[in-house]
Amino acid sequence: MAATTAASLDAEVTLVEASIIGGAAHLWDCIPSKTMVASSIRMNSIRNAEKLGFAADQSPVDLKRLAARIDTIANDLSENTSEVLEDQGVRLIRGRGRFTGPHQAVATTEDGDIDLEFDLALISTGSAPRVPDWATVDGTRILTTREAYHLGEIPEHMIVVGSGVTGVEFVSIFASMGSQVSLLVSRQQVLPHRDAEVAAALEEDFLERGVKLLKGARAISADLTDQGVVVAADDGRSVTGSHVLLAIGSVPLTDDLNLEAAGVVDDHGYIPVDEFQRTNVPHIYAAGDVTGKLPLSSVASMQGRKLARHAMGYQVKPLDYSKVAQAIFAEPEIASVGLEEADVAATGRRVRSTKVPFASNSRSVIQGQERGFVKVFSDPATHEVLGGTIVGHRASELIGILALAVQGRMHVETLVETLMVHPSLSESLTEAAE
Ligand SMILES: Cc1cc2nc3c(=O)[nH]c(=O)nc-3n(C[C@H](O)[C@H](O)[C@H](O)COP(=O)(O)OP(=O)(O)OC[C@H]3O[C@@H](n4cnc5c(N)ncnc54)[C@H](O)[C@@H]3O)c2cc1C
Repeated sequence: MAATTAASLDAEVTLVEASIIGGAAHLWDCIPSKTMVASSIRMNSIRNAEKLGFAADQSPVDLKRLAARIDTIANDLSENTSEVLEDQGVRLIRGRGRFTGPHQAVATTEDGDIDLEFDLALISTGSAPRVPDWATVDGTRILTTREAYHLGEIPEHMIVVGSGVTGVEFVSIFASMGSQVSLLVSRQQVLPHRDAEVAAALEEDFLERGVKLLKGARAISADLTDQGVVVAADDGRSVTGSHVLLAIGSVPLTDDLNLEAAGVVDDHGYIPVDEFQRTNVPHIYAAGDVTGKLPLSSVASMQGRKLARHAMGYQVKPLDYSKVAQAIFAEPEIASVGLEEADVAATGRRVRSTKVPFASNSRSVIQGQERGFVKVFSDPATHEVLGGTIVGHRASELIGILALAVQGRMHVETLVETLMVHPSLSESLTEAAE
C-alpha cells in the first residue's frame, strides 16, 4: 500500500521482497486462513442442511484440493498486485534487503547483489510465528500456522496451543472439517482479553462441536510419539493427538536487516515509531507487524498509505487505533470496533450499552443462524456511537456499518433512523442502537 500510494504521488519507488508480492498475508496468514474458513463454513452449512429441508452429501473436504486452491488464490492475488505496482512504475526486486548505510541498502537476489540509494525508506518486513523453546516444529506433526495449509489429510486429532484470535480460528476450521480438536487455554476463558460474553458464545459453540477445552493449562512441552504427538501442560495434564498447532503469537523479522548501518534502533526486534510511522531516523519509516502495534493486515495497509503521504510532504491525520474494526473468523464470527465491554468496565466511563440477540431477527431465523447478538455502546450525554460488538453470522461484514458510525462520530439516532432492508441482519444494528 505504501508503494502504490507513493507511486501515485509521483515518487520513484523500489520494492524489495524476499518472498511473494503481497507478503505473508497472501502466503501464510489472512488469505490462506480465510480460504480454509470459507470451506469450513460451507461444511457447517451442509451439516445443518436438514434444518433447511434437504439432505446434503457430507463427504469430507479434500485437503489436497483445498491446498491447491489456497496456492492459486495466493499466486493470483500476488500477480495482480505485482501488475498494479508495475503499471504504476514501481521497480520490483525479488530478493532480500539489508541496510548498508543511512541512505544505502543492498538487495541480494538470485543474480547477485543490487546496490540501492534512497532518500526515504520503509521497513515492513513483518513477523513470523513464535516457536517456544519447548517445541521443535517438524512441519508434519508439530506445526505453526505456516505448515497448517498443506497437511494432505484432515488431522485425526488436532491439539491447538493458544486461544487468541489465531488459535480459535484454527480450532473452528479443524472442528468444522471433522477433526477431533483439543484446545489448551492458559487462562480461564478463550480470547483472554475480550468480553466474557463474547468468549462464552464461542466456547458454547466449541463445546457443541465436541472441542475439548483444557482451561488453565499452559503448554510446557510438545513431543513426537510413534503415532503423533503428546502435549504436556503445567497443571500436570497432558493430551495426546495426531498433530499440534502452535498459535502463541509472533516475532518481528528484523534480525537480518543490519539496522545499525542505518542507525535505526529496535526494541527486542520491534521498531519503535512515532505517530507518522517514523523511526528514530526521520527519513526511515516502519509499518506493519515490525512496529509491535496492532498486528493486522488492515492496519499495516493504512499505516503504509498514511506514511507514504507523510513522506511525500502531505498533511496526514495519525491513525486512531481505538477505531480499528477487527474480526475473528470463527463460527460464530466475532467483530468489534471502538469501545468494548472490557474498556467500559476498565475506564468507569458512563456508557449506554444496548444489546439485541439475533434470535429476534427474522433473517437470522430464516437462515437457521440465530446464534449471537449485537451490542452498541454510545455516550448518554452526546449520543455519539462509541463502539460495538457483533457475534454471529457475517459479523465481519456487518461491523462495517458500526465502523462508519464510530469513525463519523455518528449519533445513535442516525443509526436508529436508517431504514434497513427487511428481512436483513443489519436490522439488528438499528434495533440495538435504539
Ligand atoms: C494465521 C494468521 C491469519 C491472519 N489473518 C488476518 C486477517 O484475517 N486479517 C488481518 O487484518 N490480519 C490477519 N493476520 C495478521 C496479518 O497477516 C499481519 O498483521 C500482516 O500480514 C502484517 O503485514 P506486514 O506488511 O507487516 O508483514 P507481512 O505481510 O508479513 O509482509 C512482510 C514481507 O516482508 C518480506 N521480508 C521479510 N524480510 C525481508 C527482507 N530482509 N528483505 C525483503 N523482504 C523481506 C517477507 O517475505 C514478507 O513477504 C493474520 C495473521 C496470521 C498469523
